[in-house]
Amino acid sequence: MSDLADLSQGDLFAEPDPIITCRTLSQLHDLIGGCTKCEELAEYRSQAVPGVGPTDARVVFIGEGPGRWEDQKGEPFVGDAGAYLTELLEKIGLDRSQVFITNVVKCRPPDNRNPKTAEMDNCEPYLERQLALIKPDLIVLLGRVALERFFPKEKITEAAAKPRRGAVGDREVTFLPMLHPAFGIRRQDLKPEIEQQFWKIKEVLDEL
Ligand code: URA
Repeated sequence: MSDLADLSQGDLFAEPDPIITCRTLSQLHDLIGGCTKCEELAEYRSQAVPGVGPTDARVVFIGEGPGRWEDQKGEPFVGDAGAYLTELLEKIGLDRSQVFITNVVKCRPPDNRNPKTAEMDNCEPYLERQLALIKPDLIVLLGRVALERFFPKEKITEAAAKPRRGAVGDREVTFLPMLHPAFGIRRQDLKPEIEQQFWKIKEVLDEL
């Protein structure tokens, strides 16, 4: 049999990718809820935290990964950083319920360590599918980990509040890196700068 024939036979009998075949966010989130790709995270988590918000949101916020409170509640950004994010959104006239919020990894890393590259790789198809289904105009990358996932080797302090165009699958979208709200909790002196930078979100949305 020729290589070509081999290939077509393989394609014919290949299992369909369960992530790509999800037609709705709710199907996808059910799949994420039962994910066991990362053994350690699956064992350690109380539950997966897929994300929350309207299925057709214009803006998607992407953080790093769930912390303790998110793991308990099943919702991203519900701890101190989340309260500050909600406050920042309100300052620029956005309600939390208008935006979609998720993370690079959907399960809490033990002791809030940074997610490992393999864990982010495992979770990437979920994030890609979320973005393909939501089709946002703007993706806000909260902090270093989210920025580096899309723009490796860039520095968040230099990239923050500077919009740029990029591709997500076959769609062009605007990305806006931002300092992570947790930064403002740790460094209260940076709050004015973070708040000033957040206005860029409103500016970009008004222009899009
Ligand atoms: N920090 C994140 O990056 N994500 C959350 O969900 C909460 C805190």
